[in-house]
Amino acid sequence: MPQSTQVVVIGAGPGGYAAAFYAADLGMQVALVDPAVNPGGVCLYRGCIPSKALLHVADVLNEARHAEAWGVTFGAPKIDIDKLRAFKTKVVNQLTGGLGQLSKQRKITYIQGTAGFRDARTLEITREGQSQPEMLTFEHAIIATGSRPSTLPGVTLQSPRLMDSTSALEVPDVPGSLLVVGGGYIGLELGTVYAALGTKVTVVEMTPGLLPGADRDLVNVLARRIESMSEAVLLNTKVVAMKEGKNGIAVTFEGEGLPADAPKERTFDRVLVSVGRRPNSAVPGLDRTRVKVSARGFIEVDPARRTAEPSIYAIGDVVGEPMLAHKASHEGRVAVESIAGERVAFEPLAIPAVVFTDPELAWCGLTETDAQKQKREVTVTRFPWAASGRALTLDRSDGMTKLILDPKTERVLGVGIVGPGAGELIAEGVLAVEMGANATDVRMTIHPHPTLSETIMESAEVFFGQATHVYRPRKKA
Ligand code: FAD
Ligand code: NAD
Repeated sequence: MPQSTQVVVIGAGPGGYAAAFYAADLGMQVALVDPAVNPGGVCLYRGCIPSKALLHVADVLNEARHAEAWGVTFGAPKIDIDKLRAFKTKVVNQLTGGLGQLSKQRKITYIQGTAGFRDARTLEITREGQSQPEMLTFEHAIIATGSRPSTLPGVTLQSPRLMDSTSALEVPDVPGSLLVVGGGYIGLELGTVYAALGTKVTVVEMTPGLLPGADRDLVNVLARRIESMSEAVLLNTKVVAMKEGKNGIAVTFEGEGLPADAPKERTFDRVLVSVGRRPNSAVPGLDRTRVKVSARGFIEVDPARRTAEPSIYAIGDVVGEPMLAHKASHEGRVAVESIAGERVAFEPLAIPAVVFTDPELAWCGLTETDAQKQKREVTVTRFPWAASGRALTLDRSDGMTKLILDPKTERVLGVGIVGPGAGELIAEGVLAVEMGANATDVRMTIHPHPTLSETIMESAEVFFGQATHVYRPRKKA
């Protein structure tokens, strides 16, 4: 290990490794510290990637079941759980191993260990398997320590039946019943996986609706599917107690989700707690620097992602929401450019959000809900997928695409999509928002036929009352 470096990055998730790689590409001398054998962080080892591998399998299972409606019957699926796990692990190893190679090719010093601060210019790094820390002085440090699962307040139960996202992704078995606590990203994605594998899934969400941050018209489409794949979806309901019983975890509910005459206690083979994530801002020795941490536990940064300590930057989940991999990577690049002396700011107009359920739900830029909160006048145009040739060939007419537009400038401010493949489609929306495209730009752009991307073009045509495949004349002023 060198004794000094120009840039050291603490944490090798999608924020940290993207920053380290970019800094090396710009010619800086870089060290990257993480406890894992290769870069990857939560996203690659226990987040985005393993969950999407499992969701792909869930999609295949669901499609195969649905194929009966098209005259094709496969019979009941046989699930080899070890092989399923091996597939997921292979994907993770391939990607993290690849990142290890890329790190070496860039001559980055990758240190497998945990870092803390001795002062604003020195790290104490304890390598895996060693007890004595080694010192590394730096010109600039980037903190990219990410986040960890939140726990349920007041619940102290320790049980192998009680899972967080990390243990649920290990798919220890296919439980007969599963309670998912929290109807957000993780609960709905992993609930979808387990339901497809054959588990009876119940979702409990404390707010009045699933995915509280997203527009209701989009969520309603997904909610119908989630309800059909689940035993029950209990909204406005909380878990107040859990205790281990002989046959599972006995859970006590409180709230309006349960019918008045239904028992308030139910037993589940397993429980997944997915009620949000907490930032890893308790980096040892951080109090020996001037870095500030907010009341919610996020490291405070300026638009260039610099902390109150000029030599230290911070990026990714540890600095705030949305806690998304692509947001972390982008912040990493901003921080590195700032270190390189550029005048830069992290000021995206659109950070795409994608929930990889079936159907997928994606949005970017201004949401209708936020427009209402801000009392901002917008025009919302919707194109139902029932009018899309491509959607019908997939037998998926349940989707919807909508544009949120400025009525005066016709500028695209936000895009929302629900339907299979929404996660891929939203990228066009992000480009439209970032490039300042207006409804005319979008409708004049020739989209390939028959594709779901045409629904974006036709949503723009709806704005003018001239969509080819829906009859919605423009209201006279
Ligand atoms: P992380 O990926 O959390 O990495 C931080 C790293 O820092 C970790 O490896 C940690 O061990 C290390 N570290 C912590 N403290 C220290 C220390 N003191 N010294 C050295 N190293 C340290 N986001 C998406 O955009 N799309 C998805 O599909 C998606 N799916 C997800 C599914 C699940 C189940 C989960 C849990 C999350 C998902 N996310 C997804 C969120 C995404 O994983 C995070 O937003 C992203 O990983 C944040 O990146 P990061 O670089 O900030 O930190
Ligand atoms: P989340 O914030 O998405 O959802 C948590 C849900 O739990 C919310 O709906 C909240 O109202 C509910 N909740 C909180 N306390 C509760 C309680 N006591 N009882 C019942 N419900 C309760 O959090 P998450 O699903 O844990 O995911 C964490 C973060 O990870 C996400 O916000 C997202 O940033 C990231 N993530 C992203 C993806 C993706 O991009 N596809 C996938 C997974 C995770």
